[in-house]
Amino acid sequence: MTDDVTLHAHLIGRQGSRADLNTPVLVLDEGALDRNIAAMAALAKAHGVGLRPHAKTHKSVDIARRQIAAGALGICCAKIGEAEVMADGGISGILITSPVAAPRAVERLAALAGRAEGLMAVVDHPAVAARIDAALGQARASLDVIIDIDPGIARTGVASAEKAVELAAAIAALPHLRYRGVQYYCGSQQHIEDFAERRAAIVERTQYLESAIAALTDAGFAPDIVTGSGTGTHRIDLDLGVFTELQAGSYVFMDKQYLDCDLAGDGSVPFETALGVDARVVSANHPGLVTIDAGFKSLSTDGGAAVVRRGAPADAFFAFMGDEHAALIAPGIGDTLAPGDPVTLTVPHCDPTVNLYDHYHVVDGDTLVAIWPVSARGRAR
Ligand code: PLP
Ligand code: MN
Repeated sequence: MTDDVTLHAHLIGRQGSRADLNTPVLVLDEGALDRNIAAMAALAKAHGVGLRPHAKTHKSVDIARRQIAAGALGICCAKIGEAEVMADGGISGILITSPVAAPRAVERLAALAGRAEGLMAVVDHPAVAARIDAALGQARASLDVIIDIDPGIARTGVASAEKAVELAAAIAALPHLRYRGVQYYCGSQQHIEDFAERRAAIVERTQYLESAIAALTDAGFAPDIVTGSGTGTHRIDLDLGVFTELQAGSYVFMDKQYLDCDLAGDGSVPFETALGVDARVVSANHPGLVTIDAGFKSLSTDGGAAVVRRGAPADAFFAFMGDEHAALIAPGIGDTLAPGDPVTLTVPHCDPTVNLYDHYHVVDGDTLVAIWPVSARGRAR
């Protein structure tokens, strides 16, 4: 850290060099980030659909501000702790997309409702709605709520259209809650690699969403807001035209998992890889293998292998070698790379990787232009 803090002080007067950074370090290409933010904003606007990007991906007040400056309605947060950090950073229009159910978390939600402009939260159970309403009464606040509808993965959300109607009626009877609409996030479909297969799955799931909206509408609970979608299905969802706003998150960075998906349906890659991890060779004592300084503590392990973007052959085989290390394996790699040599990796899965770092080191090519905190790092509760 010390060298980075010193570097930060230098940044007030002049820019630093990426090559001077201690590794492993989370690097963010500022130009690519801004182009990704602009591209998704333009796409949503062209379809007359709102964008409330998911901040679970970046956990950064700086990035949230840029998304809002580009036209976003606000941001989504996964947890109350994330939302508190974003609200304290001056971000308005926050939607909490996971049910807030624990008693202490509900108290914090009620307190946040009193000070965060445009706060919304999902609910998926009448008992929790009543608990939130009681806490709001104590806090003398009110809250806009969205009914989370389970798209068939049994993670969160009401399990049927009938249950959605029952919950809407329960909310309508509570004095401090205002029913605003529905959430529908098809998490299992986002990473279907083949576009046509992903589209067919979403078309089928959207029929179910439409039936739930029809049931709510018939009962007098027509939703103003229909929110959901992600980086994997955003184009399909825009085309189908049921959502009033999108929650896509990973598009700001991209990662290996999404690079493996045909996002646009024509093989093109509509978003740039803005995020990476800069690592270094720390040992090169074998002709076909070098060891780098990034392991489980520096890259999420749920998304498979990282991919070399710069500094080593792009087809080098990546293998985790424990907490602190990974191997890059390719013919002759140990003869061409030496200890201290830099490599840039594309991360397997962006969201959990970001949560491993305190800071983004924001770069323009080889120049370090800023250091931003991962403001909501670790705020999982
Ligand atoms: N909405 C919800 C409820 C999510 O859980 C997620 C990600 O897991 C997103 C939106 C963002 O999706 P993506 O990262 O695929 O863009
Ligand atoms: Mn993710």
